Amino acid sequence: MFAMQGIDFSSAEHHKVVIVGTGPAGLTAAIYAARANLSPLVIQGPQPGGQLITTTDVENYPGFPDGIMGPEMMQKFEAQAERFGANLRWGMVTEVDFSERPFKLVVDEEKPILADTVIISTGASAKYLGLENESRLLGKGVSACATCDGAFFRNQDLAIVGGGDTAMEEALFLTRFATKVYVIHRRNEFRASQIMQDRVMNHEKIEVLWNTVVEDVLGDTLVEGLAIRNTETGKARTLPVQGFFVAIGHQPNTDIFKDWLDMDETGYIQTQPDSTYTNVEGIFACGDAQDHVYRQAITAAGTGCMAAIDAERWLADQEA
Ligand code: NDP
Repeated sequence: MFAMQGIDFSSAEHHKVVIVGTGPAGLTAAIYAARANLSPLVIQGPQPGGQLITTTDVENYPGFPDGIMGPEMMQKFEAQAERFGANLRWGMVTEVDFSERPFKLVVDEEKPILADTVIISTGASAKYLGLENESRLLGKGVSACATCDGAFFRNQDLAIVGGGDTAMEEALFLTRFATKVYVIHRRNEFRASQIMQDRVMNHEKIEVLWNTVVEDVLGDTLVEGLAIRNTETGKARTLPVQGFFVAIGHQPNTDIFKDWLDMDETGYIQTQPDSTYTNVEGIFACGDAQDHVYRQAITAAGTGCMAAIDAERWLADQEA
């Protein structure tokens, strides 16, 4: 009997392939592993379907010339994986031990699972500023996804913080609904691509507040405004807005793997060049958990496919 935090693995389920996470990467890995007769167990994670679940139209995924809604696309991914025998299960992997094979995983802090290979596709999550009232008012005027929540803010004044492509894209999207959109950026130049900057700068509904930081989100039950400060003049003031969008980047969901896998300083899992191999043999990583450059559904699906093929070949080598 081996144990991890008192959990008994002696009669644990044992799978050839366990996939952790169900965005485009994990579900593509599931389709490929299932079609290779590996009957993968897929642990869905806290947001089954991943980031696309919180998206509206997906217009850049090949094969859908008229676009498709993000949640619908992920349902199709799921159906395709299940059709070939992938076993999708609710739950969240809360702990792992990759020190020896079979690898050990704990689901929801209690359920032990053994795996010959693990494919990590846990994705990334939006970052927040970390203000107390920002988390208190999340869903009550604070959001990290304009495409999901923008339509709730018709004819209102809104603010978005960030200076990257996401902030530009979301600010432009919000102009469809809002009367006015403030883009708040902590420096005096954006890091977004020039074309996106130009669109933002030239939009009549958008006003950019340079060298400005958000110090507090104001409001009792709903957002009523922001406490902002100009970092050059030191001047503080209240910006009355009814919605506050945060677009300051993403954080990979890789915390539980940090004792085992090589990662960069932000927490993106490092994979070997042109493959999904991590530093631990038998553990593969794909999607936004290892990709901080492209971060697209199609590239996540591509690396998910690679991970399943890498895992299948690695298993075959072990059994040869
Ligand atoms: P980025 O990391 O590119 O930008 C994050 C922005 O948030 C930066 O301007 C940064 O400021 C600001 N920021 C970070 N932390 C804080 C903080 N604590 N307080 C205030 N501001 C903060 O993230 P994105 O999500 O915008 O983009 C990620 C990647 O995805 C990029 O490569 C981007 O090009 C790509 N992308 C491409 C799109 C497209 O091509 N259509 C659409 C969306 C994203 P600072 O500049 O000072 O560091």
